[in-house]
Amino acid sequence: MTMIKQLTIIGVGLIGGSLARALREAGVVNEIVGCGQDKDHLQQAIDLGVINKYETDVAKAVHGSDVVVVAVPVGAMESIFRQIKTAASAHTVITDVGSTKGSVIHAIRAAYGSVPASFVPGHPIAGTEKSGVTASFAGLFHYRRVVLTPLENTDKAAVTLVRKMWEATGAVVSQMDVKHHDDVLAATSHLPHLLAFALVDTLAALDEKAEIFQYAAGGFRDFTRIASSDPKMWHDICVNNRDAILQVLQRFQLDLEKLGKAIANNDSDYILDVFKRAKASRDQFSQ
Ligand code: NAP
Repeated sequence: MTMIKQLTIIGVGLIGGSLARALREAGVVNEIVGCGQDKDHLQQAIDLGVINKYETDVAKAVHGSDVVVVAVPVGAMESIFRQIKTAASAHTVITDVGSTKGSVIHAIRAAYGSVPASFVPGHPIAGTEKSGVTASFAGLFHYRRVVLTPLENTDKAAVTLVRKMWEATGAVVSQMDVKHHDDVLAATSHLPHLLAFALVDTLAALDEKAEIFQYAAGGFRDFTRIASSDPKMWHDICVNNRDAILQVLQRFQLDLEKLGKAIANNDSDYILDVFKRAKASRDQFSQ
């Protein structure tokens, strides 16, 4: 059953492309207009059957759409919102997929003067270390969480439509306060990415690096897979969720220092306690 007549996706990459594929597969959208900077990427999205047509001009892409999804890196959102403002009607529902929510709300407020009631901030907690439309797939959101962080003035009907759109992809949708979202994601997603990038960078700078990577075992691969993620996207996330990331990073640095001291002092009890607690938490989480 058609839920959306015309949908515009600005940023037809991993997330935007996967959303388009999932909605097409679910048969809930008539036409999908893609928008981006690179015509070759957009043509590829047509060739792959992800979108129906494309525009490189945001205002033209948005014209006549019921719903607009902004799926570009968070640092590019303010400029996109400014362009959407010139073309979207008051009835056009606007949503985003950005990994940080406080900064995206700040960006739309800067573009519009205030946050429009038709804007529903969103974040699918799903992804891979790959980028671009070629990495997109319809099943990315199956049984994965999507968090919406509407404000007090957000239109209820717009929230319902965005919720239904995500549910049609197979996702489980919940709502959260903006700051709570940014604190939770700083700990569960942003810090692990920061650590993976930092660890690989440190090891790659060691003299023995050729040997280190040659003998890298499963643990190294598991821990560092996400260091293959897009640097620009993660740069934007780090600078746009700075306070929450710094807070959890400082806490982690203290704990790591304590663990280092325990190793230096042969404090087996401390080391075993940390490892046992961590294993119990990880085992419980992965059940
Ligand atoms: P991606 O695969 O690199 O896709 C981003 C798309 O945005 C590209 O297709 C690019 O198109 C377009 N784009 C970039 N800058 C633009 C601009 N200034 N104007 C118009 N289009 C622009 O990245 P992604 O992983 O889908 O991430 C997109 C968003 O989803 C980000 O905000 C990210 O925080 C969020 N997110 C990512 C994940 C994840 O794990 N990857 C998970 C949840 C949420 P062109 O090639 O044409 O420039």
